[in-house]
Amino acid sequence: MTRPEPPAKMHRTWRAGRFLLAVSSLFAVLALAAVVWLGVDLHAFRRAAGQLQAETVPWTLERQRLGRNLEQLRLEGQRVLMASSPASRQDALFLVHVLSAQPGMADDPRTASLAAEVEGFLQRIGSPAAPADIQAWEALSSRLRLMADDLSVEGGKRMSHELAHLSNEIDEASYKLFFNLLLVAGFVVVFLRIVQRYLIRPLQRIQRVLSSLDARLPAPAFPPGPMAEIRAVEDAIVRFHATLRENDEVRLRLERLATTDGLTGLFNRHHFMGLAADEMARAARYGRPITVAIADLDHFKQINDTLGHAAGDHVLRTFAGLLGETLRQTDRVCRYGGEEFAFVFPETTPEEALQLAERLRARLLDNPLVLPDGRRLEVTFSMGLTDGSGCDLEESLARADLGLYEAKRSGRNRSVITQRPDLG
Ligand code: GH3
Ligand code: MG
Ligand code: MG
Repeated sequence: MTRPEPPAKMHRTWRAGRFLLAVSSLFAVLALAAVVWLGVDLHAFRRAAGQLQAETVPWTLERQRLGRNLEQLRLEGQRVLMASSPASRQDALFLVHVLSAQPGMADDPRTASLAAEVEGFLQRIGSPAAPADIQAWEALSSRLRLMADDLSVEGGKRMSHELAHLSNEIDEASYKLFFNLLLVAGFVVVFLRIVQRYLIRPLQRIQRVLSSLDARLPAPAFPPGPMAEIRAVEDAIVRFHATLRENDEVRLRLERLATTDGLTGLFNRHHFMGLAADEMARAARYGRPITVAIADLDHFKQINDTLGHAAGDHVLRTFAGLLGETLRQTDRVCRYGGEEFAFVFPETTPEEALQLAERLRARLLDNPLVLPDGRRLEVTFSMGLTDGSGCDLEESLARADLGLYEAKRSGRNRSVITQRPDLG
């Protein structure tokens, strides 16, 4: 199964480098925006903290000092009222004047007017104070106390308002910082996922395919991915596999041409000699029986002469097919030349091989060969066999050929075993 050509559905492809650059740039823009967003909060926080330090704290301290001064003014007023001598009254009045004239007191219109009212009242009243004055003083005294309290509360309120604002800014900045961290973590996860899915996994697949690439297996199939470079490598592998397969087919064809006979499909003489020599060597090494034989079709020239060369070829092909059906998997046979065939029967004595040859003869007899034009033809063969165990191949073939000659001489359509001279 190969990648469809042309693809039924065009998949969009990206160059991996450009794709990763695009993802990274998108992230960089998002991260920059998030940092600016966070920066706005940090700036607001710094401004609020600066305001708290430069304005609110001194202002609150000033309110408290003013509150304390009002309380002091009230106490000094009390002292004016309770003075036992003109000197101590004068002394207390002087302090009342100093307190009323203080810059903080004079700057705030509310405290300035109350302080002026108190000072004027204390200077007006006689000594000792009349009961009506004492009563008026009680009222003034409680107004002083109330204003001192108001000033303290005012300072506290502004302070707590500013601190709440500051705390809000801190909260927002921390949420944004958290969001930024999430963004970075999300990018890392997405980036790794993209690299894993579109680069690492396809590369692993390519590595697996390459390590098991075989011309005899079906062409590798790759699911279409979005990375152009990966697609290019995968396409190259598919093309490479097709070339491998073509080369393998050519190699097999050449191998077949070099080892088989074109007419019958049997091994050719050259290849057979190599196989047979191996079988002979193996039998000699393990002291196993092995039989060598040569068969020749009888009166074949006559078939050619009377029915034509094509009929002769047909007979050769059919006879070769019959050999393939009758012999065992381990037996070796070749077209030795013309209408001659050579055999090696491993693990077989000449007598057992003779039975095989007779079985073949019986098949030929039972099923006369049918020519393409429908005519039936009785084909017979002669065969020479010999024991090849522990012997040289050429020598065994020559001895089998003696048997073949004997079979021809004694009337054809028979098999003759030539005994080994060394075994008597
Ligand atoms: P014998 O019984 O003594 O073996 O006689 P024969 O006629 O079979 O033997 P001979 O050696 O006289 O003739 C063999 C013939 O086989 C001669 C040749 O034209 C023919 N021959 C050889 N190769 C081919 C081939 O590939 N195709 C065909 N049709 N004939 C071939
Ligand atoms: Mg012949
Ligand atoms: Mg011949």
